[in-house]
Amino acid sequence: MENEKHEVIVVDNFFTGSKDNLKKWIGHPRFELIRHDVTEPLLVEVDQIYHLACPASPIFYKYNPVKTIKTNVIGTLNMLGLAKRVGARILLTSTSEVYGDPLQHPQTEEYWGNVNPIGVRSCYDEGKRVAETLMFDYHRQHGLEIRIARIFNTYGPRMNIDDGRVVSNFIAQAIRGEPLTVQAPGTQTRSFCYVSDMVDGLIRLMEGDNTGPINIGNPGEFTMMELAETVKELINPDVPVRIVENTPDDPRQRKPDITKAKNLLGWEPKVVLRDGLPLMEEDFRQRLAVPKNFIFT
Ligand code: UDP
Ligand code: UDP
Repeated sequence: MENEKHEVIVVDNFFTGSKDNLKKWIGHPRFELIRHDVTEPLLVEVDQIYHLACPASPIFYKYNPVKTIKTNVIGTLNMLGLAKRVGARILLTSTSEVYGDPLQHPQTEEYWGNVNPIGVRSCYDEGKRVAETLMFDYHRQHGLEIRIARIFNTYGPRMNIDDGRVVSNFIAQAIRGEPLTVQAPGTQTRSFCYVSDMVDGLIRLMEGDNTGPINIGNPGEFTMMELAETVKELINPDVPVRIVENTPDDPRQRKPDITKAKNLLGWEPKVVLRDGLPLMEEDFRQRLAVPKNFIFT
């Protein structure tokens, strides 16, 4: 994007985002940062909107569920109102959570999902489902140009160390020499996409001709126990694995069918988990100030 001379406006309320991650752009002549909450109306002039707003880690979105659903519903309504006023194309980052605890495996875009409407995850799952509905209603009723990506679990450098999701937890725990907390039973699966692949997929979707929804994720599927063993092997073989209590409604399996992304966007992920984890480790070690050869005693 740097070479394409776009002017970029970043809008963030910093509920889960960090200014540190934007440091290198602050002061750049084509970059602007606005501290703003998308649940309030926003007046700017733009050609494209990447609507990514919403906490995505269960511990954060469950912390204030009412705020989470407001962000997904009112936030999306405001971004659609903005897109309508200025004639912008809008991309929503929806989620694999719209499939809930899926009964179809792997998940294709045609699958309608198995979501609990009144559970502790519903503020996020149902919030994103309504956001998708709003996108399609604005598209059909007002002719808006929409794009919907269904993002599967994503990881990479610059994630919040205390984000609470599994990859960042395991890496931070391995570096600190702490037990890896596998939530029971440990046989549940996820498929992890490296951040650069994800960004590439989102840009292709925005620039292409398909509304979606399109799954964007890495089909490499792992149980949480396998993930823990891989992190141990790559980062710190001395840490134990500890089985801890799980939270309600945790999906038992998740893996994207990416046929559509391959055929319609010419996209598929390039970075396998074993290559991505060390890149994230390097960044976490710097921020935790624990060099590679450091041994906890
Ligand atoms: N909106 C916004 N920025 C704009 C235009 C609209 O934030 O540039 C908000 C507006 O406050 C409204 C929402 O988007 O709450 C939906 O706008 P729309 O025009 O679709 O609906 P209406 O305002 O007619 O309810
Ligand atoms: N998990 C785990 N240990 C942790 C955090 C999460 O075993 O320290 C498990 C969690 O039970 C779930 C999976 O990892 O089965 C992915 O959880 P995460 O919060 O990363 O994302 P989700 O896919 O649930 O949104």
